[in-house]
Amino acid sequence: MTARRIDGRAAALAVRDRAAGWVRSFSEKAGRPPGLATVLVGEDPASAVYVRSKNRATAEAGMASFAHNLPDTTTEAELLDLVGQLNADDRVDGILVQLPLPSQIDDKKVIAAIEPAKDVDGFHAMNAGRLATGLDALVPCTPLGCLHLIKAEAGDISGLDAVVIGRSNIVGKPMAMLLLGESATVTVAHSRTRNLPEVVRRADIVVAAVGRPEMVRGDWIKPGATVIDVGINRIPTEDGKGRLVGDVAFDEASQHAAAITPVPGGVGPMTIAMLMRNTVVAAYRRAGLADPEGL
Ligand code: NAP
Repeated sequence: MTARRIDGRAAALAVRDRAAGWVRSFSEKAGRPPGLATVLVGEDPASAVYVRSKNRATAEAGMASFAHNLPDTTTEAELLDLVGQLNADDRVDGILVQLPLPSQIDDKKVIAAIEPAKDVDGFHAMNAGRLATGLDALVPCTPLGCLHLIKAEAGDISGLDAVVIGRSNIVGKPMAMLLLGESATVTVAHSRTRNLPEVVRRADIVVAAVGRPEMVRGDWIKPGATVIDVGINRIPTEDGKGRLVGDVAFDEASQHAAAITPVPGGVGPMTIAMLMRNTVVAAYRRAGLADPEGL
């Protein structure tokens, strides 16, 4: 079997297109576009690239983009003060504080300070709790993007076995909640899981969010499974430039899976698309309008 390659770029473009349509109708109704504020503290090159692409996508969707770039000497009090200002600013529907933050700042305090209705990353305990209890929530962008790809590929996943490898608050745990919400039978594996290959072999759906290059081997994959690779790992190459690989050995897994996301070009683009989606949804909810359909 050679797996279908799931095209995350195409899926992401479709979501961003739909989001742009809802941006236009929001702007007509509200007299202003939805707004996303990004906060970057310090000069981590990877974070700077992520934030730039988020700001570009925001502008391309017709939304207002408020970029705040702070020096890495910023204090926790200064950052909390900015978050307070953004919470109070009515033009701002979504607030994204790029992680990781410099060591003098407690990221938990910062996340807790974001107004839950503007928490487009979905990291606030209020949104995590709402997701876990089946209420409307702002859901973390990466797992939301994964679910979108899974449903587009596998359709109704009710009753299927899903294994999520990784239990971070950002990816693994919300991913498990989303799959449970779709009535999959969900196992969450992590670094203490015994006999991981056997656990993964049961899965009709595998989501790997570990951060270990090509850890999931081809013979771990049940024939016909859908494989979603969240990992982004740079491995050294002879030319010194390095190469991006996922947490799944793509070529091997492709021999067993029915469908698989590549790295790059799989989950990554969906994360930004879902950020656009969440910002639009936050704008509609804050304005007391019905949720945009089909987003
Ligand atoms: P994280 O917070 O470091 O969590 C990694 C998880 O993997 C932990 O739960 C850890 O278990 C588990 N783990 C580590 N080694 C393991 C092993 N040998 N066997 C089984 N489980 C193991 O990472 P994250 O933030 O969730 O991110 C995971 C990966 O996704 C990273 O490569 C990251 O770059 C990527 N990512 C991509 C996107 C995107 O847009 N595509 C977005 C976010 C993250 P313990 O809890 O027991 O330590």
